Amino acid sequence: MLLRSTRNIKDPVSFEQAIFQGLAPDGGLYHPLKFNSYPELFASMNSRQNFQTIAASFIRQLLCEEVNPDDIQALAEKAFPFSPVLKELEKNLFVLELFHGPSCAFKDYGASFLATMMEYFLKKEKKRAIILTATSGDTGSAVARAFLNKENIEVVILYPSGRVSPLQEKQLTTSGHNIHALEVQGNFDDCQKMVKEAFTSKELQTLPLTSANSINMGRLLPQSFYYAYAYAQLKESLDKQALRFCVPSGNFGNLTAGLYAWKWGLPAHSFIAATNANDVIPQYLLQGKFIPRPSVATASNAMDVGNPSNFERMEALFHSDIQEMRKTVSGYVVNDKLTLDTIQKVQSSWNYMMDPHTAVGFHAIQKYRSESSTLQDKIVLLSTAHPAKFNEIMEQACGEAAPLPARLQEVARKKKESIVIENTFDALRDYLLRSH
Ligand SMILES: *Cc1c(COP(=O)(O)O)cnc(C)c1O
Repeated sequence: MLLRSTRNIKDPVSFEQAIFQGLAPDGGLYHPLKFNSYPELFASMNSRQNFQTIAASFIRQLLCEEVNPDDIQALAEKAFPFSPVLKELEKNLFVLELFHGPSCAFKDYGASFLATMMEYFLKKEKKRAIILTATSGDTGSAVARAFLNKENIEVVILYPSGRVSPLQEKQLTTSGHNIHALEVQGNFDDCQKMVKEAFTSKELQTLPLTSANSINMGRLLPQSFYYAYAYAQLKESLDKQALRFCVPSGNFGNLTAGLYAWKWGLPAHSFIAATNANDVIPQYLLQGKFIPRPSVATASNAMDVGNPSNFERMEALFHSDIQEMRKTVSGYVVNDKLTLDTIQKVQSSWNYMMDPHTAVGFHAIQKYRSESSTLQDKIVLLSTAHPAKFNEIMEQACGEAAPLPARLQEVARKKKESIVIENTFDALRDYLLRSH
């Protein structure tokens, strides 16, 4: 698969180059150079296939030039020691639970695939890499778990001291081995600034620094796989019904991955993009203007994004034609009050605990259905996180906390190990040169 920058169709790169580069040199995001449709890939899927087999069939189709065919099944199994679970809430309404990985959020899929592929390429070429990343809490924990004990890779995670939740801090600081947590005496912006400076610093050019940002193609690609998994689970019962996906969105990576799957031939009819008050893309779909603005804090904080980077990929995909985008993507905005009401209603009517991000999507589906009389369509709602990660809000919404999954309880019991550093580039540089 060849990839090019969203800002330039010249100088395509391989998948391997794209994942180690992260961002394209011109500041754009990597995006497939062209899209082929693979109807046979989807035609061959069925409900007896597990997620790993479906992932392997994608890798075979898309990365056959870069990955040895004999390695593919093992890579898929290594990257995904967890699977999505599709549950039917009511007739024609399904929840695709993506929180059964180690950090209990869908970001485990992207992080784990990226880590597995980086290790694969590095070992083949006998090289090493240092992953340098800043986190405000949630993404860092998926990265820490995904890269734990990967060979030829060290991971340095910067997080703002005292500004991540206690559980998030444990997730960041208890891995040990090749995962190093730097507790920065400053805020998240300081962390990001320090990391940015490290990537452009001449003094650090001897270090094989690389990033693991959410915009990395290696994180986006595997998110396409679970849309196909849901399709495979449902295809035999689909009849002539339309299949739609509802995606709780912030930076719009998950939605973009669904659009990629659709471009490759996934028989999906449309995508419902659900946001909280940070509604830059729903506003764009409504008014035709993309106007980024500072994010506001909401009850679904992993979606508090004021300038969604993946909009560049969505634009490239629809050739900047908003009419085309509107045919496939519809936007819905759900405020905090409705989000909390939805959590409560889903708990009391379906006896199902839904995290605030998923609840945004659930309410968007209600709105969508009331506007479009499409009760006969099948809709799959992506459930992006386990409710126990947001228990303060769960208690507020339905007076009850969700039981903490065993893997989070275990992390909460472990001892924190961090290296406290000042919020300056010099402090980061000294640490990197001294320890790596
Ligand atoms: C990251 C995240 C989202 C938003 O996903 P995007 O790909 O950024 O749109 C939604 N829910 C949860 C729980 C997340 O962690």
